[in-house]
Amino acid sequence: MRRGYKRRPAKVLRSAREEVARLFAEAERQFDAGRKDLARRRVRNARRAAMKVQLRIPEHWHRYCRRCDNYLKQGVNCTIRIRKGIRIRRCLECGAVRRKIMREKSVRAPPTHPNSSSPRGSVRGA
Ligand SMILES: [Zn+2]
Repeated sequence: MRRGYKRRPAKVLRSAREEVARLFAEAERQFDAGRKDLARRRVRNARRAAMKVQLRIPEHWHRYCRRCDNYLKQGVNCTIRIRKGIRIRRCLECGAVRRKIMREKSVRAPPTHPNSSSPRGSVRGA
């Protein structure tokens, strides 16, 4: 049996995207209602729906923790600090930290970067 890569029809992707958006909206509602457990379940379902069709959901990456799947709301259960042009987001549920390099324009760093070999390495999805 060959397990080839099957191209996903636009219709499938669109409905998956809608499903994900719906689940995140639901997650936010549950989170605001103080039901973190239910919010996390929505996040998990949303991620699973996206994964199933290999859909990337960068528009939602800032809304959940990739480690513990908790719904994250800035100032409530996650903190965001900006330091030397790097946005550092910490999940207060599990302590996971994600870093995202901001645009060059706002960076006032020295011209030399010692670790510039893989700038995309660990900063995606922060
Ligand atoms: Zn977390």
